[in-house]
Amino acid sequence: MKCYPEHGSAPRRKCAQVAVGSVLIGGDAPIVVQSMTNTDTADVAATARQVAELARTGSELVRVTVNNAEAAAAVPAIRERLDAMGVNVPLVGDFHFNGHRLLTQHPACAEALAKLRINPGNVGRGAKRDDQFATMIEFACRYGTPVRIGVNWGSLDPELLARMMDANARLSEPEDAAVVTRRALVASALESAQQAEALGLPHERIVLSCKVSGAQDLISVYRDLAARCDYALHLGLTEAGMGSKGIVASTAAMAVLLQEGIGDTIRVSLTPEPGGDRTREVVVAQEILQTLGLRSFAPMVIACPGCGRTTSTYFQELADRIQNWLRAQMPQWRGRHPGVENLHVAVMGCVVNGPGESKHANVGISLPGSGENPVAPVYVDGVKTVTLKGESIAADFQKIVERYVVEKYSKSPEPAQPTKRDAAHA
Ligand code: SF4
Repeated sequence: MKCYPEHGSAPRRKCAQVAVGSVLIGGDAPIVVQSMTNTDTADVAATARQVAELARTGSELVRVTVNNAEAAAAVPAIRERLDAMGVNVPLVGDFHFNGHRLLTQHPACAEALAKLRINPGNVGRGAKRDDQFATMIEFACRYGTPVRIGVNWGSLDPELLARMMDANARLSEPEDAAVVTRRALVASALESAQQAEALGLPHERIVLSCKVSGAQDLISVYRDLAARCDYALHLGLTEAGMGSKGIVASTAAMAVLLQEGIGDTIRVSLTPEPGGDRTREVVVAQEILQTLGLRSFAPMVIACPGCGRTTSTYFQELADRIQNWLRAQMPQWRGRHPGVENLHVAVMGCVVNGPGESKHANVGISLPGSGENPVAPVYVDGVKTVTLKGESIAADFQKIVERYVVEKYSKSPEPAQPTKRDAAHA
């Protein structure tokens, strides 16, 4: 059994580094956050708009489905529109069934894409499968485009699975069918990668994924995959689901693997609620990485859950307001205030844990609980600096946080004080 140092993930698994446009996956590069659009790719305006939203939220790669001739023809126009908007996020094309034909008929699509995703289970059947796979790999070679060989539990190559199931049935003590299926997922990815290399695709242009919808299956499959190759790995639970179910399932599965050093790029496949915001999957992916201490994207707000001591929703509103405001500032702050993504702000509901948690944050406020004196002490770098009261507590606290950011994270020689929380996770 592996042992992990207290408060630390295992070192990242060593793997080949893949360049996707300007974004590096694997090697010593930070774990990349990616997402996928759910617009009709043929709708250039809607797709470009959603790609831009995902990119501005922090998606470092954005995948679009290329499912028909209209979608393939739209890809170069989407790229152009994004460039005109100043959004240079690399685009990944997702191909199934007819990718060989679409790339052949729309070479400009191949040229506009920074990566191809090929699902070996959906490339074709029988003798056609190898030819169609080879056509797609030839396009990748011609344009210097990396490829993700993305196997999926729901579309596993049936011929490979049947072969492995037959071989298993001939054993004196056959394995459980679920075990064989997990092995078939890994075999499909590795065999397809070897085939792609034999066709001329360089090793360092290949990313692998084996997505399943169960957390324990994902952990098992990726441990196996990670042990058997040094390709960069794209991590994600497929069909994770909606709302808290999707978030919890993705987090539970991916956190175990990330903690073991497995995973070079992640996507959280959330089903948005009707009319919901697609960018949620980007925020969740960032929060998984930030919570594990693997990357920092935006200041974190630590807030207590509230209880019978909080007489109103005031403190929830303040926590929500500060969190949304901090995230909204990031596009400007990122360049102007380097390191601000490591800021910790505490918003607490009463004096039970309020002052203690506030002292651990860079800036913290402890709001008055039920029956307490209606004042809110503020702590900056562990020291009580001011006590706020009256109607303007929220606005005054926001100004204090803003002033702290300007003073501590401007391009000046004085670095921000590490919080006690940082020290504990160092
Ligand atoms: S800090 Fe106070 S208000 Fe918040 S959960 Fe604890 S006791 Fe309740």
